Amino acid sequence: MKRNDMLQQARQRTEPWDIIVIGGGATGVGVAVDAATRGYATLLLEQHDFGKGTSSRSTKLVHGGVRYLEQGNVSLVMEALKERGLLRQNAPHLVSELPFIVPSYAWWEGPFYGIGLKVYQVLSGKYGFGASKLISKEETLRRLPNVNPDGLTGGVVYFDGQFDDTRLLINLAATAAEQGATLLNYAKVTALHKGADDVVNGVTWENVETGESFTVQARVVVNATGPFTDGVRRMADPDAKQMIAPSQGAHIVLDRSFLPGDTAIMVPHTSDGRVMFAIPWHGHTLVGTTDTPLKQASLEPVALDQEIEFMLETAALYLEKKPSRADILSVFAGIRPLAKSGEDSNTAALSRDHTIHIDKSGLLSIAGGKWTTYRNMAQDCVDQAATLGDLPDKNCVTKTLNIHGYHPNAAKFGALAFYGSDAPAIRELIAKDSTLAQSLDAKLPYVAAEVVWAAREEMARSVEDILARRTRALFLNSKAAVRMAPRVAALLAQELNRDKAWQIDQVEKFNHVAAGFQVKA
Ligand SMILES: Cc1cc2nc3c(=O)[nH]c(=O)nc-3n(C[C@H](O)[C@H](O)[C@H](O)COP(=O)(O)OP(=O)(O)OC[C@H]3O[C@@H](n4cnc5c(N)ncnc54)[C@H](O)[C@@H]3O)c2cc1C
Repeated sequence: MKRNDMLQQARQRTEPWDIIVIGGGATGVGVAVDAATRGYATLLLEQHDFGKGTSSRSTKLVHGGVRYLEQGNVSLVMEALKERGLLRQNAPHLVSELPFIVPSYAWWEGPFYGIGLKVYQVLSGKYGFGASKLISKEETLRRLPNVNPDGLTGGVVYFDGQFDDTRLLINLAATAAEQGATLLNYAKVTALHKGADDVVNGVTWENVETGESFTVQARVVVNATGPFTDGVRRMADPDAKQMIAPSQGAHIVLDRSFLPGDTAIMVPHTSDGRVMFAIPWHGHTLVGTTDTPLKQASLEPVALDQEIEFMLETAALYLEKKPSRADILSVFAGIRPLAKSGEDSNTAALSRDHTIHIDKSGLLSIAGGKWTTYRNMAQDCVDQAATLGDLPDKNCVTKTLNIHGYHPNAAKFGALAFYGSDAPAIRELIAKDSTLAQSLDAKLPYVAAEVVWAAREEMARSVEDILARRTRALFLNSKAAVRMAPRVAALLAQELNRDKAWQIDQVEKFNHVAAGFQVKA
């Protein structure tokens, strides 16, 4: 993917696009993949970088959602479990099976959660992962060496999926591009336009890098802007009623010693009645999440102090080595774009199903759902968009579509495994220039070649793009990411032909964002 080529494609087209997608998160990029594979002329516009919004800030689980089963939403769980299986089939380089243990501290917890998790396993049918089972206290301690042993009676093991959210997103964008879609980051939609029939038939967008504006036409405009859905709807209808209830979820990242081994912990009932996880991820421990209703969405949400305290307190109940603020390597928050139901202020109780809404202006908005169900959401959305835009009937083909990077045995690429079939090309860069093998920081596995690759092939435009979303440095260890920034700026400047002043500005901007990922001890 090259941004200049994408810009040229966007400029050259004089015909209306079949579908314009606003928003480059999981939902929008999923819609672009689906639309392009059906042969529709597709343009996707993202105001910042792909995944800048919620889609880089998930718990990194490809899951059915044990909690939704508890809420009785069996259809959502079944749909998500099926999508979990399809995603592992289509992107095995990024999605893997992860064992979870629910530790039991009361006699009834084992049988109670054991039955629930057996149902969870049965609902996945032919898309199942491993079988769930009850295990002894000794087995629980063996698999979770740092679990709190006081009062432990045993545990329940079950299996779910894990992934890297932005690596999948970038690979999905590449898949859409390979199928003929045009996708642009740093392309902000600033206005919607209507035809004589008062129906939306185009957008004006700004190339954020140059300030240039363009007006383009489309048969259908899809609003996939997650937490920003209502703002975009109001570009067409200033009186549109609110359909999104934004809710923030935060995570903290600790080092591996808090969760040695390869098994995650699932806490089915925190003191506020939620589910919480401690998960091994990229050699670190990810703990989360929370559910805090918000009045307004922002592009760079920051975890609240009380969310951090709550996660530390909950983790301390289940871990023998108890984490403190000083142990937090990074903290990040994301905003759930939940579909609003009446006046309910308890966002944990709001449905995680997706919603497709067509305004009287003809603008089609899709919101809610989960990362796990992005494919099914996209299928639903493009079916509706095709009817709305009177596009030729074409069947969805994404159930069996390999996602860019597909590789059945990517583990053999070691630290580059997450690039899947792209890993040999990164190794080739190193073979041609050995300085690109240099590590960017001793605390993280990233090397200089990844910066060059991201700039040349993955449309990375800034230091933040590289450290937050092409690699996951900022999410894993914010201080290490700050140390890496000047070197990344220098490498990127060489690729993008930028000067020293640009590098200084980039590092400054990155440090500002990174401050929001740091916790004062
Ligand atoms: C804390 C948390 C944990 C989660 N964990 C999981 C999990 O483990 N597994 C799972 O399956 N799901 C999980 N989810 C849900 C999942 O992350 C979301 O459902 C999904 O990422 C939403 O994607 P989206 O594309 O709808 O929104 P976003 O990713 O927010 O994308 C919307 C995009 O629209 C862009 N945009 C806005 N306005 C404009 C404009 N005017 N012009 C152009 N672009 C614009 C934004 O910049 C943004 O990038 C989690 C969510 C949260 C908050």
